[in-house]
Amino acid sequence: MKIVVTGGLGFIGSHTVVELQNEGFEVVAIDNLSNSSIEVLDGIERITGKKPLFENIDLREKAAVQEFFKKHTDVVGVIHFAASKAVGESVENPLLYYENNVNALVYILQEMIKLPKANLIFSSSCTVYGQAEKMPITEDASVQPAMSPYGNTKQIGEEIIFDVANVTNLNSVLLRYFNPIGAHSSAEIGELPLGVPQNLVPFITQTALGLRKELSVFGNDYPTEDGTCIRDYIHVVDLAKAHVIALQRLLKEANQEQVEIFNLGTGTGSSVLEVITAFEKVSGQKLPYKIVPRRSGDVISAYANTDKANDVLGWKAKLTLEDALEDAWKWEKKIRS
Ligand code: NAD
Repeated sequence: MKIVVTGGLGFIGSHTVVELQNEGFEVVAIDNLSNSSIEVLDGIERITGKKPLFENIDLREKAAVQEFFKKHTDVVGVIHFAASKAVGESVENPLLYYENNVNALVYILQEMIKLPKANLIFSSSCTVYGQAEKMPITEDASVQPAMSPYGNTKQIGEEIIFDVANVTNLNSVLLRYFNPIGAHSSAEIGELPLGVPQNLVPFITQTALGLRKELSVFGNDYPTEDGTCIRDYIHVVDLAKAHVIALQRLLKEANQEQVEIFNLGTGTGSSVLEVITAFEKVSGQKLPYKIVPRRSGDVISAYANTDKANDVLGWKAKLTLEDALEDAWKWEKKIRS
């Protein structure tokens, strides 16, 4: 069965391609390499023994998207990862984000709904909940006004999918990720942040290697046990597996609604200081860090209630924070060696 993975050479996409191939799916990866490298294909091949088909397409080009779906009429599912994802950059350049994250989705949907099977898995985010009132966060927590154009593109994307499903054959699963971290345990694929990492774990691993002087911890006066922000860190391989399960649900027509939403997290919140301590334990080295003022836009706490994903989707995160930090550390050392 042929599955299209947009952004298939990116961080979460590449791990999902591996899991799809392990389950016997035929994968066509689309990527314009704007935030990834062509060598990722070799990493995937070294893990699975197979290189996925690859199309270097910029999904902002409507004609190219049309051409692609004309060529691949036997596609039975699309997993749409391709997007720009830097919150700060989205504030600086909102049109880039609306063009890349919204236009591309529209072009894909326009072609998908012509297919006999229009099954879409969409990468959404826990940012849609903003600072939720209740922890852990359930899927029926209200969607809060977006705090950035990036966050807004995820909300708009979800709304577009609901509207299109209303009047077409589209079936979709919206996956709201909490904080994906880690790398494949083989260290053949992982995260490749360009420039200064925006996320905690790549910043930690780069600091531990001496590429950055010290880690800045943004605020230790939050109303949490140790004063630092709390997030739900999920291993990227667990996350990738959830995509395969969600896709199989659509292919088996086991979905209860045309559009379903699932939180993907571990259900456990970890503070920034807890992540640092866990990293020091797995790497056996001290991490230089300093406390700096709070960063605007950071919510205090966000961790998932995973009951719906566990019970309805039949998926549960298996790997621990320590597993993820160990794999991220192995990957960082390998790419810098
Ligand atoms: P990533 O940047 O590693 O992967 C995205 C891939 O899409 C990249 O390889 C990039 O080259 C490609 N791409 C971007 N624009 C494209 C275009 N116009 N045409 C073709 N390819 C294009 O990001 P990721 O961390 O793997 O995230 C995947 C998805 O998950 C994104 O939609 C992101 O918003 C969402 N998400 C990520 C996180 C996270 O923390 N990583 C959290 C929540 C949601």
